[in-house]
Amino acid sequence: MPDNCLFCKIVRGEIPANKLYEDDDVLAFRDIAPQAPVHFLVIPKKHLSGPSAVTAEDEPMVGKLLRVGNEIALKEGTPHYRVVFNNGAQAGQTVFHLHMHILGGRNMAWPPG
Ligand code: 5GP
Ligand code: ZN
Repeated sequence: MPDNCLFCKIVRGEIPANKLYEDDDVLAFRDIAPQAPVHFLVIPKKHLSGPSAVTAEDEPMVGKLLRVGNEIALKEGTPHYRVVFNNGAQAGQTVFHLHMHILGGRNMAWPPG
């Protein structure tokens, strides 16, 4: 499955991405179809299909997604932002590699649609 996974291909450099941050564990890049003035994704390099695939051993990585996302948001000048993890097709998940959306730079509606 990681062979055909879009975000694994981005991790391996087989598909280009507008990268904002990268280290051994995580990668952040701008969303190709931004839904806000600032919209980027932070993903683990390890393939996990989504939030429901997270296990205890992944807990430090999930915290890192939040820390890295916050640091990038501050650099982007958007300290107020929405964090979204979609889990499953009905929730809007279209790429089945765990990813955290950060959206900022505009007012956000609540509840989300
Ligand atoms: P989901 O709907 O699964 O929560 O989010 C997937 C996100 O990935 C969408 O916001 C979509 O625009 C983004 N996306 C899909 N394909 C690509 C791509 O090839 N490059 C980048 N940078 N983003 C992508
Ligand atoms: Zn993957």
